[in-house]
Amino acid sequence: MSVTDERGGSESVGAGPGFTAGEVTVHRLPAELSKVTRTLRRTGRKVVLVPTMGALHEGHLELIRAARRVPNSVTVVSIFVNPLQFGPGEDFDSYPRTFEEDLRACEREGAELVFAPTRRDLYGDEPRTTIDAGEPGRELEGASRPGHFSGVLTVVAKLFNIVGPDLALFGEKDYQQLVLLRRMVRELDFPTEVQGIPIVREHDGLALSSRNRYLDERERAAALTLSAALAAGTHAGSRGADAVLAAAREVLDSEPMVELDYLWLCDPELGPAPEEGEARLLVAAKVGGTRLLDNALVELGPASRVEPAR
Ligand code: AMP
Repeated sequence: MSVTDERGGSESVGAGPGFTAGEVTVHRLPAELSKVTRTLRRTGRKVVLVPTMGALHEGHLELIRAARRVPNSVTVVSIFVNPLQFGPGEDFDSYPRTFEEDLRACEREGAELVFAPTRRDLYGDEPRTTIDAGEPGRELEGASRPGHFSGVLTVVAKLFNIVGPDLALFGEKDYQQLVLLRRMVRELDFPTEVQGIPIVREHDGLALSSRNRYLDERERAAALTLSAALAAGTHAGSRGADAVLAAAREVLDSEPMVELDYLWLCDPELGPAPEEGEARLLVAAKVGGTRLLDNALVELGPASRVEPAR
């Protein structure tokens, strides 16, 4: 493992400055990382970026593994708890920070580069230029967390400009975020492909999240209601949109510790749900003080009816 110093120099020597094959090299400074990825790209390597806020779990590791499977690529994991995407009174200060463990996980998974800037390294003085996702950024998560998606899009745009990735991987766990990022890339002509990775769950269905560690035993049990509600909704797909929502709602209402924020059925681009075909069922709720998100693919209409096995 090697770490760039204050001036951005690196202790490691290998395939190029600030990069050693088979090791994880940590860069704090944007300009230094840009230099390294630019050099790697020139030698024909694909640069794959996995943006995270750290406190890495199996969900993040699946993204890193998918990045590592890209032929002739180098994997860059960014670890930065982005203040811009937290609202006043949210958990920015208490958000779990486990940097040393995260580095060990990156090393185990074979990520070659970690970008871990400080707030000052990335934003300097408070940033005034931000990206607005428009109306879709003010719905669902955006309605409950004003400014959240502007913070997300702004930091991802900066990461894209610094790292220059050919491909960036994001989890379907944050489904609205994935849709808005795809739109940003399309509409602002970023030369980066965005790919979504399916949700990684615990054995009992709970979607992995860095925030799950806030849950006590009772809250963790209650949190299972979210994935159970999605399963009930998915199961009702052949009976149409209303049945999906009713089935999911019934499960959510059965658990008093779940404070529902929204349950929403839409098309894959967050538009109105179709009569038939692919749709997304999204749920957000507070359990105890912890805000949790989950979602699932739903096949709507008679075509989705499961044929009995012969
Ligand atoms: P975060 O550190 O929470 O900002 O997440 C970093 C990336 O990991 C985002 O693209 C998330 O969607 C993704 N992610 C988080 N949890 C999961 C999960 N359970 N399964 C798949 N991807 C996830």
